[in-house]
Amino acid sequence: MLLDLNRLHGQREHFERRFEPSAFDPQDEDYRLATPVEVLLDVEKAGKDAYRVTGRATTRLELQCGRCLEDFLLPVDASFELCYVPAIDLAAEPEREIAEDDLTTSFYREGSLDVIELLREQFQLALPMKPLCTEACRGLCPSCGANLDRTECGCRPAWEDPRLAPLKGLLKPEKEN
Ligand SMILES: [Zn+2]
Ligand SMILES: [Zn+2]
Repeated sequence: MLLDLNRLHGQREHFERRFEPSAFDPQDEDYRLATPVEVLLDVEKAGKDAYRVTGRATTRLELQCGRCLEDFLLPVDASFELCYVPAIDLAAEPEREIAEDDLTTSFYREGSLDVIELLREQFQLALPMKPLCTEACRGLCPSCGANLDRTECGCRPAWEDPRLAPLKGLLKPEKEN
């Protein structure tokens, strides 16, 4: 969805939208939208070419657990405050610099704000570094691949605490006494 900034009525406009997952096709690889996206958006003129965009997006993303590889749902409730300025051609205006630490600055092109693109960025920000179905997920058995959250496979743990190794030696029966 493109929002035509030239057609804003007055200084501030409020939008409420619902986007079906299909509005995001092709979807990003890192997640799948499991439910529609509910969006509240306030767009406000903030200077000559700049617009302040505040809003909130809620949905649920389906992710794959990094340990057990099962899919799970991540609720997303993202609030954002962004400043939109016209996209600039850096080659044409080399003297104009963008502060790299200013993460809240976004760009619009040809007078239009791409709401789908805005939402994609919010979803990316909401993704965990390491997606886990639960913090306590035990993952897959390294020997047989069984999902240890669902079953006890009976394999011996392959890993032994090296701090316990000396103790093991102490427990060995002595040959000579
Ligand atoms: Zn898991
Ligand atoms: Zn196993």
